Amino acid sequence: MADHSEGDEKQFWQERASLLTPLAKSIPTDAGVDVSSLGIQVHGGMGFIEETGAARLYRDARIAPIYEGTNGIQAIDLIGRKLPQSGGAHVRGFIVELRQLAEDVRASNRDGFGSTAERLAAAIADLEATTEWVLAATGEGRMVEALSGATAYQRLFGLVLTGCYLAKGGLAEGGDGRDEGRIALARFAAENLISETATLKDRIIHGADSLAAARLALA
Ligand SMILES: Cc1cc2nc3c(=O)[nH]c(=O)nc-3n(C[C@H](O)[C@H](O)[C@H](O)COP(=O)(O)OP(=O)(O)OC[C@H]3O[C@@H](n4cnc5c(N)ncnc54)[C@H](O)[C@@H]3O)c2cc1C
Repeated sequence: MADHSEGDEKQFWQERASLLTPLAKSIPTDAGVDVSSLGIQVHGGMGFIEETGAARLYRDARIAPIYEGTNGIQAIDLIGRKLPQSGGAHVRGFIVELRQLAEDVRASNRDGFGSTAERLAAAIADLEATTEWVLAATGEGRMVEALSGATAYQRLFGLVLTGCYLAKGGLAEGGDGRDEGRIALARFAAENLISETATLKDRIIHGADSLAAARLALA
C-alpha cells in the first residue's frame, strides 16, 4: 500500500507496516513452538523419540523465534520505536479500528460468535490501557520500567490481533461453505485464548519492580 500511495497516505501505510512487523514475526513463531510442543505431548513417549518426526518439528520450529530478529529484540523495537510513531497517534488510530471490528461482530447478531464481541472489547481495552501506560513511561524516559514488560506487551498485542483477525475472517462471507467454521474458530480464540490479556496487563504495569528485585537476588 505504501508503494502505491503518496504523501500522508504513504506515511500511514509505512507506519502500519512498521507497527505490524514485530507482531507478525513474534506471535506466529511463538505459537509454532507451542503447537509443535503440544504435538509431542499428544503422541506421548512416541512423540519424544526421534523416529516419529514430532521432535524434529519441535526443534525446527524453535529456531523461528530466534532468527530474523529474536522475538525479544522485536519486543524492544515495538516499544522503543514503533509505538512512538507520530507521537503515538498511529497506534491509537489502529486501536480505534480494532474497536470497530468488535462492534461489527456485536452488530452481526450471529449466535455462533457467542461472547466474542464482549471478550474482544475487553481485550482491546487492556491493549489500550497498556499502550497508554507504555507511551507515558517511554515519554518520561522510564525505559527500564517500560522494557521490563516488552515481551508481555508484544504477546498481549498479538493475542488481541489473533482474536480480531479471526473475527474479521468470521465476518467475511467466503462463499466456500466454511463460514460457520471460521466463526467457531473466532469464538474459540475469544473465549479460550485472549482473556490472558488481563494477566499480561497486570504484569506490564506492575511487574518491573519485582523483576529488578529478583534479578538482584539471583545475581
Ligand atoms: C539455524 C540458524 C540459521 C541462521 N541463518 C541466518 C541467516 O541466514 N542470516 C543471518 O544473518 N543470520 C542467521 N542466523 C543467525 C541469527 O540471525 C542469530 O542467531 C540471531 O540474530 C540471534 O543472534 P545471536 O544468536 O547472536 O543471539 P544473541 O544476540 O546473543 O541473543 C541471545 C539472547 O539475548 C537476547 N538479547 C540480545 N541482545 C539483547 C538486548 N540488547 N537486550 C535484551 N535482550 C537481548 C536475545 O533476544 C536472545 O534471546 C541463523 C541462526 C541459526 C541458529
